[in-house]
Amino acid sequence: MSEGLLPAGWELVVGLEVHVELQTTTKMWCGCSTDFGDEPNTNVCPVCAGLPGALPVPNRQAVEDATLLGLSLNGQVAPRCRFHRKNYFYPDLAKNYQISQYDVPLIHDGHLDVEVAVGTDDGTGDRYETRRIRIERLHMEEDTGKSLHVGETGRLHGADRSLIDYNRCGIPLLEVVSRPDIHDPATAQAYLRELQSIVRATGVSDARMEEGSIRCDANVSVRRTGDELGTRTEIKNLNSVRSLGRAVSYEAQRQVAVLEDGGTIRMETRHWDESTGVTEILRVKESVTDYRYFPDPDLVEILSPAERVEAIRTRVPELPAAARARLDAAGVPREAAVTVVAGGSLPVYDEAVAAGADPAGVANWLTGDVAGQLTAAEVTLEESGLTGAHLAELLALIDDGTLSNKLGKQVLTAMVERRGTDGPARIADDLGLKQVSDEGELRGIVEDVVAGNPDTVADIRGGNQKAIGALVGQVMKATKGQADPRKTNELLRELISG
Ligand code: ZN
Ligand code: MN
Repeated sequence: MSEGLLPAGWELVVGLEVHVELQTTTKMWCGCSTDFGDEPNTNVCPVCAGLPGALPVPNRQAVEDATLLGLSLNGQVAPRCRFHRKNYFYPDLAKNYQISQYDVPLIHDGHLDVEVAVGTDDGTGDRYETRRIRIERLHMEEDTGKSLHVGETGRLHGADRSLIDYNRCGIPLLEVVSRPDIHDPATAQAYLRELQSIVRATGVSDARMEEGSIRCDANVSVRRTGDELGTRTEIKNLNSVRSLGRAVSYEAQRQVAVLEDGGTIRMETRHWDESTGVTEILRVKESVTDYRYFPDPDLVEILSPAERVEAIRTRVPELPAAARARLDAAGVPREAAVTVVAGGSLPVYDEAVAAGADPAGVANWLTGDVAGQLTAAEVTLEESGLTGAHLAELLALIDDGTLSNKLGKQVLTAMVERRGTDGPARIADDLGLKQVSDEGELRGIVEDVVAGNPDTVADIRGGNQKAIGALVGQVMKATKGQADPRKTNELLRELISG
């Protein structure tokens, strides 16, 4: 439970609806391209523009991808399922109805286990608790076009005019509907994060929330402990894990305040405003009957015979929870394991470890310096060309003393700059970066520094151990930062005391 979010005696109840855009090359019912960011209204045909008489044909790849994700979420595949028309008028949906699923979705009854950090009783750190969130269904449907409201606010209200881009119209969507098993914002966030990770692991979508390939709606209600479910509101289109947490917290507190004041909660759809931090009403929620669902007469049932389901099941990849457990067993600290698995650097990690690198060391570099370099260079790990083999080689060079940690970081910068065309040994050679750890060479330099700084040496001999730092600095300067710091320290102490 999230302590202190609600007054004592109140309970929060949340269910999430997550829309996942499947990354097929063509749309759900036609052959139009699904490429993101193309010129507006260039990927449109009579089917996705909703012209009368145009007939939809289901995308087999989309059905298989949806099945794969459903199986990865422990769901049951319906042997036969069908499509319905969900009727509503909105300018970005040219048919005036969305093809969706209603009474028989493709997948039903799955679950997702999430790990949530809960403080230890003595406050000395985090303990993790696993919570099972049941998944009611995964149904297939199609995306709508995108409206662009031109005006000061960028929203419909107060816009001068609106533009519509139908490129997104008809892109396959999979809606993952959880049961109302979530009772605090942290669990809601953990669920969304874990789902995003699983989607990535299956490869059915890049799961980029900022590009809208995953969008989350939250159904939020509150009740007095032990009561029936309260009336819920739906917060639409939360586009980050952070927004989800903030919006749910705000909405729960708003509802409790209304109810404690003697008011009632209406079923309504609300919009989360990230800048003001409040939810506001969009419209009074449609009820199911408003949509006048009926079976789409243009589409036949989708059959999923057991053999096909089992064939798809063999493609279920190692899931994030299993990957984290594997890294944990290899000695990788928990936070790093979480970041490696969720951040998509697991293939590079695996390759580096297979090449002989220490698991904890690899994870540490990936989540620290590598992540930092990628952010600075504004590239993804893939774009950087960085391979696990090169990373293992870099760590080996640091391990055997050829490179200091600091030089290793410089080499890494160049590795990213060169987009993986050269390995670390080659780069270190090119840049003349090599740690001076040769006893003889380093001893000569240290002797010079000691001889050239009699006052500092006297100071250290008088008991000011800190002053040794100044001499280390001089050695580094003389070697252009390439002296082995540990050896330098040893030699300095030896020469000064001797
Ligand atoms: Zn089309
Ligand atoms: Mn939907």
